[in-house]
Amino acid sequence: MGASTDGAESLHPDIEQVLIGSAHIQARLREIAAEIDRDYAGRQVLLVGVLKGAFILMADLARSLTVPVEFDFMAVSSYGSATQTSGVVRILKDLDLDIAGRDVLVVEDIVDSGLTLNYLLRNLRARGPSSLEVMALLSKPDQTRVDLPIRYQGFAVPNVFVVGYGLDYAERYRNLSFVGTLRPEVYAQT
Ligand code: 5GP
Repeated sequence: MGASTDGAESLHPDIEQVLIGSAHIQARLREIAAEIDRDYAGRQVLLVGVLKGAFILMADLARSLTVPVEFDFMAVSSYGSATQTSGVVRILKDLDLDIAGRDVLVVEDIVDSGLTLNYLLRNLRARGPSSLEVMALLSKPDQTRVDLPIRYQGFAVPNVFVVGYGLDYAERYRNLSFVGTLRPEVYAQT
């Protein structure tokens, strides 16, 4: 078992390797929350979660924040059940709130090519927020293909397909409290 695993979580039968253990994720989120608290002191933050992957991250991050926060969500199309990006981004669910004049912090699960986030930021910027920043839990090396202003970063992960902590494979594994890789047999079954 690697240094970043926290005990029994590696026992999930479909998981090949735990890349980031749950205690490690929670500790990093507390650090990032403290930074956000400092940066937004005296202001009110509108957290915009990108569904579905960011729902667990958003809940945990928000509970470590002390600045006043409001929540909204967007859903965009990404990988579907496959493990390759299409580069095509579609808004499946738009925000409920008007973000004009608001301090908006986009909360993303993972940035791979950066295409999804790039599109999203252009779209949100056009709505006139007074500030627009990004918190991404995970980032992959390909991200350098697009220059993205990610203000708060959790962890870098290698160029492998990961699941857990909100991230799915064919809608499963989102509820795992850690980030890991799947055994190859799992892909063969679907
Ligand atoms: P990008 O547009 O940056 O290439 O892809 C971003 C989206 O692709 C993420 O929001 C996420 O939905 C999906 N994605 C990218 N890498 C992974 C991965 O390793 N695992 C999972 N489950 N989804 C990923």
